[in-house]
Amino acid sequence: MKGQLWSGAKIRYVRGKYAHIRRDLQRKKRIDLIRRIGSKEGRITNQILHTIAKEVVEYAKQFLKPIIVMERLKNIRENMNGSAKLNRRLHAWSFRKIQTYIEYKANLEGIPVVYVNPKNSSKTCHRCGHVARKVEGREFRCPKCGLVYNRDLNSAINLARPSH
Ligand SMILES: [Zn+2]
Repeated sequence: MKGQLWSGAKIRYVRGKYAHIRRDLQRKKRIDLIRRIGSKEGRITNQILHTIAKEVVEYAKQFLKPIIVMERLKNIRENMNGSAKLNRRLHAWSFRKIQTYIEYKANLEGIPVVYVNPKNSSKTCHRCGHVARKVEGREFRCPKCGLVYNRDLNSAINLARPSH
């Protein structure tokens, strides 16, 4: 399974750039401008999410009877420190949005969309089924069968399994 990955780097870049501008404007007490750049940031972010969603649906179309499987997102945990919490919330916001866009575009193409419980999908080895105690870094390393695989792709393969 070759798979296809889409990077969140552009979103992170836009977010970082606007966080910087916002801090600068706060120092200068330009609340009016802060509001305006907020909506500009939202427009740019949405544009990126739309582009990725379109590519995801295009990717699905190459298969004979495609189904798009996505994880059911949970509410964001509250027991995190300030910046991690904010980061996580923005992250979750982007994911929820892109899921909506993918669902909308998939519907137009007649591609069914299914949401599944992501439980253990990132910790389970897609080759042997072993559930690792924890996964660190960008790679999934199975302690049982030795598989080394891109973490997100391993997780995606588990989500796509028809066992749900
Ligand atoms: Zn394994």
